[in-house]
Amino acid sequence: MEGARRGSSVIRATYDLLPSPQNLKAWYGEDPTCSLCQEPASLRHILSGCTTSLTQGRYTWRHNQVLRELASILEQKRTTTNNLPQTSAGQVNTNFVSAGKHQEHYTTPKDTSILQSVRDWKLEVDLDKKLVFPPEIVATTLRPDMVLWSPTTKLAYVVELTVPWEDGVEEAYERKKNKYSDLAAEASQNGWKTNIFPVEVGCRGFVATSTTGLLRK
Ligand SMILES: [Zn+2]
Repeated sequence: MEGARRGSSVIRATYDLLPSPQNLKAWYGEDPTCSLCQEPASLRHILSGCTTSLTQGRYTWRHNQVLRELASILEQKRTTTNNLPQTSAGQVNTNFVSAGKHQEHYTTPKDTSILQSVRDWKLEVDLDKKLVFPPEIVATTLRPDMVLWSPTTKLAYVVELTVPWEDGVEEAYERKKNKYSDLAAEASQNGWKTNIFPVEVGCRGFVATSTTGLLRK
């Protein structure tokens, strides 16, 4: 009897000490409620499905944290490349991925980066100020996350970052690709070769091949 009572109070104390939604879920099989919107707080909900998080800008904040990282890597690469000695004039490395092709088919050439051929790369990032798409390429109100372009060779790279739930990676890739296909077509009428790079970093930390592909390039 004594032992049983002690046992049950130990259990109660344990319950009282650890009243976390996760534990309640484990013990009772109930979905805990989201502290922001009262929907069942599944991991998926918290990381990518909460409308309150969405309207409060929490997902945007996370997206921008990832974007800042990517942008700083590209900016470093850009300045390093622009400061290299000039290459023989007019020589353009055409080993980029053409529209509609997936990065996996890309084979890395000896000359490592797709930026190597020229020294006038410019980079705009949609972070601290609203990105205005370079009007010399095309006039558009679309605001991708990053635009990297070279006026002399009329080469442009448009980067769109998504931080999806893992299942959404493929879908996000296609959606972004389609979003910018008209822009690329219009730009080509102005003589620009525009490459669209939709990249995904899953919200549970999974980095899609599109992202590692971009960084390799
Ligand atoms: Zn919620």
